Amino acid sequence: MRKLKPLVLLGPPGSGKGTQCVKLVDLLGYVRVATGDLIRDEVMSESSFGIELRAILNSGELVSDDYVCQLVSQFLSLPHRNPLFLFDGFPRTLVQAEYVFSNVLGTPLEDYVVAHISLPLESVIERINARLVCNHCSYVFSAINHHLQIGFICPKCKLGRLDSRSDDSEPVVRRRYEIFSTENTFLLDFFGPRVRTIDGNQTQEHVFDEIIRLICT
Ligand code: AMP
Repeated sequence: MRKLKPLVLLGPPGSGKGTQCVKLVDLLGYVRVATGDLIRDEVMSESSFGIELRAILNSGELVSDDYVCQLVSQFLSLPHRNPLFLFDGFPRTLVQAEYVFSNVLGTPLEDYVVAHISLPLESVIERINARLVCNHCSYVFSAINHHLQIGFICPKCKLGRLDSRSDDSEPVVRRRYEIFSTENTFLLDFFGPRVRTIDGNQTQEHVFDEIIRLICT
């Protein structure tokens, strides 16, 4: 296999970015930079700022660029044995893209692959209505595909229980999709010819194969 390229995954909520990331990390050793997870860690800390963040997440709005850029630069400055980064849910705005890809990262933007998983709103809503997340390992399942329900023990880690995400209610998902669609136009312009769009309505395996093709060529 050729040398792998660092990767940015763009896509609306529910497009399967998280699931693809787990495979890319487990199989290929990518270091995942998932701002949603970094923000949820702060929310879980129950600090007063965490409580403010929870309200933002539950409304479907974006957290401030300043805070997100600070989180990402802190994460990137940690010693990483394998600095092959996989950006998941970041950047979400042009400000974030310009900040990190122009100022912080050592790797030139030209070396990145940007995979844009596209999925229409109706499919997003269908998937998110069925989405269950383990409260211990954060693995994501589909209640329909995996025949699972809220409260079941996580089939992957066997330690946590499955629940829906508090920001996965339909009105909030519609808002998240609307914000994504607006901001994503600027990101597609920013990344320009590096962007490859993948149809998110294919099976997980097909999407994964397409990503592999992109990062290996
Ligand atoms: P995610 O887990 O990626 O779906 O993110 C969950 C929520 O965290 C989003 O709806 C936003 O409120 C917030 N969030 C995650 N990443 C970002 C980001 N890069 N910029 C701003 N807000 C973010």
